[in-house]
Amino acid sequence: MKKSLTMTDKPNPMPNLRSSIFVKTHEEILTRDDLIELLSIMKESELHRLYKTAYGVKRRYVGDKVYLRGIVEFSNKCKNDCFYCGIRKSNDKIKRYSMSEEEIVFAAKRCHEQQYGSIVLQSGERTDKEFISFVERLVLQIKMISSGKLGITLSLGEQSIETYRRWFEAGAHRYLLRIETSNKGLYQKLHAKEQTFETRFSSLLALKSIGYQVGCGVMIGLPGQSIEDLADDIIFFKHMDIDMIGMGPFIPHSDTPLACAKSDFEDQKISLFKLCLKMIATTRIYLKDVNIASTTALQVLDDFGREMGLKAGANIIMPNITDTRYRSYYKLYDNKPCVDEDSKTCGDCLIRRVEAIGERVGFNQWGDAPHFKISD
Ligand code: SAH
Repeated sequence: MKKSLTMTDKPNPMPNLRSSIFVKTHEEILTRDDLIELLSIMKESELHRLYKTAYGVKRRYVGDKVYLRGIVEFSNKCKNDCFYCGIRKSNDKIKRYSMSEEEIVFAAKRCHEQQYGSIVLQSGERTDKEFISFVERLVLQIKMISSGKLGITLSLGEQSIETYRRWFEAGAHRYLLRIETSNKGLYQKLHAKEQTFETRFSSLLALKSIGYQVGCGVMIGLPGQSIEDLADDIIFFKHMDIDMIGMGPFIPHSDTPLACAKSDFEDQKISLFKLCLKMIATTRIYLKDVNIASTTALQVLDDFGREMGLKAGANIIMPNITDTRYRSYYKLYDNKPCVDEDSKTCGDCLIRRVEAIGERVGFNQWGDAPHFKISD
């Protein structure tokens, strides 16, 4: 029988985790049942052991540094209608904005001066010609103002293979496109009819074929999602040979069709937070040499969420460098943190927080995942 996520607070039916599973985590490939077992851990002592094991795997395979990705959320205009997302086109309660080319390039300059090493350009989804050329110009300019030094990641949703290629040729080398859930039935329930799982899947294949470092990820705690689904998500990342992972909790937004999930969310914040850390740790142990982000959404569940993500095996953080003027309009979910801070304060604060837990920041470096270099 499938374990429902809304039931994860129930005690683990297994009184003690097989201690052999931790021995297995070192070298052997874990089975799907092993992944489910790790994701089902409830005992504090076993959780700590899981995080510690994952942390050790991270140090061994991707080194002892945390890499930064300054993220600019440059527009909330979107043609899609994802049921979970606050910037979906049917949400007429938000003010729509698009930053100008100058504003985005200015943010990129700051990102470079602050020695972040890489920038992420993210926005709602558009596929019109104007948008495609706009992004191409941005990539070219960011390359120019940083003398090619700033790594460029795009997170602009599903596009044609020609568009992906154009942006790659302009100088973008990483692309983030979450699968959201690898359960096709659940995916379809969370999206409008015209947004198909197949298109999302083939977009990921297209990105890989062009030569991008490809980032993927899921939301954790979606209505109707099971522990088995999450184990399958991790296996999906492996099958797709994914280089970078970004996962975070699903946080209901009041002006979306999934606003009804709000009361469950409030009741289950603590167990959801633990589940997110377990996902990070289990993914690290299973995939080993990929980059894993400790996402901003983790901080909604716990003030030290992002730091704890790093301790559970993540190695990337993404300071928000969007102009404060626009931040409150890019609300994918309720209670988004850091919407009032300017980008310098936000970045400094995050770096201080990372260093306070004894992690070292890899300034001025791209920090590519060894997995990409190895499979290259
Ligand atoms: N349009 C781009 C990027 C914007 S959305 C794209 O589709 O890739 C970026 C990510 O935010 C999504 O992939 C989704 O996983 C996450 N997100 C959206 N709504 C969310 C919510 N309510 N809770 C948590 N994460 C959410």
